[in-house]
Amino acid sequence: MRVILLGPPGSGKGTQGDLIAEKYGFPKISTGDLLRESIQKKTPLGKEAEAVIKRGELVSDDIVIRMVRETIFNGAHRKGYTLDGFPRTLSQAKSLDEMDSRSPEIVLDIRLDESILIKRLSARWICSNCQSIYNLLIRRPKKEKVCDICGGELIQRKDDRQEVIKERLKVYHDQTEPLLDYYQQKSVYHRINGQGNVAAVFHEISSVLDEAVASSGKTGADA
Ligand code: AMP
Repeated sequence: MRVILLGPPGSGKGTQGDLIAEKYGFPKISTGDLLRESIQKKTPLGKEAEAVIKRGELVSDDIVIRMVRETIFNGAHRKGYTLDGFPRTLSQAKSLDEMDSRSPEIVLDIRLDESILIKRLSARWICSNCQSIYNLLIRRPKKEKVCDICGGELIQRKDDRQEVIKERLKVYHDQTEPLLDYYQQKSVYHRINGQGNVAAVFHEISSVLDEAVASSGKTGADA
């Protein structure tokens, strides 16, 4: 099973992706995390991507498609995987269909008001070590600026600054929103109400996924 998390920046894709990975065993692949890792390691790809990410624009399709292709075909993802932040353009979506046409697919589009997205992104902190996501409004760490899971230092992303957030939302509307139509036509699209707390959103996601997993078992398709 391939789970695709759509939804604008700040809608909770990363957090929900971790919960899906834990409950269903479909590991999360976050292109944003992979890119940030390359930046931290100062690889040539990281150096190329850093300036683009800081401006809130999209990294080239070629780079992210290559990253996803390299990841989904390693053993850990055979049973299924959850994509967080990919695809973000129509061309990425079509490449994904070409590279893995076998897995049953389910698309979860987490929606919430733009004013809430902006507030949430401004309050987001991530662990510099394990990438866990916190939010001072809805998911506070137990100790200020310290990761509950690994004890790493919590930092704010450079692209979570107000002016960059606006650009990221514009990029989302221009380049990613057309995917809604693409997946609606394939009849794999589910709209999720992202306004509630983490548990409420996951409850809604689980009811969609439970049904999808059960019916993929019945049709004999690879979960
Ligand atoms: P995210 O952590 O998903 O918000 O991604 C952070 C940034 O990484 C985005 O604003 C883009 O600059 C870049 N990025 C992540 N995923 C993609 C993608 N699928 N296509 C292009 N750029 C991406």
